[in-house]
Amino acid sequence: MVLYTPGRTSTYPTDPVEGGIRAFFLGGGDEVGNVGCILEDSTGTRLLIDYGLAPTKPPKYPAECPPVDDVIITHAHIDHIGMAPWVAGHLGARLHGSPLTASVSEVMWRDTYKVSKIEGYPLAWDRRDMDEALHSWVTHRMGEWFDIGAWRCRFHRAGHIPGAVMVEIETPEARILWSGDMDTRDSPSVLGAKALECDILFLEGTYGNRVHPRRLDEERKLADRVLEIVDRGGTALIPAFASGRGQDVLQILRREAPNLEVHYHGMGTRVTKHWMDHPEAVRDPKGLSKTWRWCRRVSSKSDRRKALEADAIVTTSGMLDGGPAIWYANRLRHSANNAILLTGYQAEESGGRLLLDERKLRIYGDIVPIDIEVDQLSLSNHGGQKELTDFARECNPKHVVIFHADEESREALNILLGEEMTVHLPPNQTEILLI
Ligand SMILES: [Zn+2]
Repeated sequence: MVLYTPGRTSTYPTDPVEGGIRAFFLGGGDEVGNVGCILEDSTGTRLLIDYGLAPTKPPKYPAECPPVDDVIITHAHIDHIGMAPWVAGHLGARLHGSPLTASVSEVMWRDTYKVSKIEGYPLAWDRRDMDEALHSWVTHRMGEWFDIGAWRCRFHRAGHIPGAVMVEIETPEARILWSGDMDTRDSPSVLGAKALECDILFLEGTYGNRVHPRRLDEERKLADRVLEIVDRGGTALIPAFASGRGQDVLQILRREAPNLEVHYHGMGTRVTKHWMDHPEAVRDPKGLSKTWRWCRRVSSKSDRRKALEADAIVTTSGMLDGGPAIWYANRLRHSANNAILLTGYQAEESGGRLLLDERKLRIYGDIVPIDIEVDQLSLSNHGGQKELTDFARECNPKHVVIFHADEESREALNILLGEEMTVHLPPNQTEILLI
């Protein structure tokens, strides 16, 4: 299956830009994840920001990218970085990112490659493209200016996960701020993002229609729930992403309930090693390494069996779509003392969503009823409605472009911000001109 024929199937407009900034979402405009956006102006400077994929079954890809020399990758989540090997391998583009994003990229790409082989889904890039991509990184520290064509760019901390950046772009006509995935609140792993005055704000809107509960209350609630489960003789299974949520959960449990016996299993072990090599990107590097020594890492089959006796198991995948979480769920489901604690949003068609809606899980090909307790907490690393609207107002732009959001979130932000700035709700593969 050929997904991409370079230069033949891109829907990007061929006419030059006469004035203003042209933005064209290849993906991630009117959907969460799957991000890729081209920015271009009359100087002929053209930049791709992020090129990800949606890890659905089968995966979803953004539209084909037109020729570009430079790509900025905001952070190392697969829905922002998953297709970067294609642009490096097929278009010869440079990848700009933070040093931590560049080092974590290899873990993410190797895992994507492995999963595509196991699941039998086609991937638009191969190992050679991945090697090319690993050699295409140009890294920049926070606050350091660098040139792309006629533009100047610099990175700012985005919150969200360590290494995640917002991008400030100075063009001859406008100052642009691209939020990436962001949160202005501090989390255990990273400090929050700060607003920046700009003319054009590209703002992620994942939680545009939801107000988060107070983060610290929710963190304490997680520890309380685990203690209750342990008191009745059970084990809490906590599925969490390898990059961000898993490390947050471990740090919360160690801080709130240090006597718990918590086991960690998954790709996060490799990711955390990269975090520790980049202490400048982590909120509390010493605390993180103490936490890492405090929890017990599962690395063998006998470790897995021991983990079944633990107080809590933190493991991947975060939305129960595979990984060790399924192995543990399959064993823990037989005793009513055990419980599954979900820590955030569960995407449509994910295992976690099936569990919440129907109390069932897909386990090694079979749909199996899950009769143990299931609870959901809100430990998101994206800003909620209040954080997003406060941030947009402080940035004080003429235009705000809401992306990485579903219809309800887009509309909610449109209503809240529409009287103060021009709101754009870009569909994928449609040009918008910002003047
Ligand atoms: Zn992300």
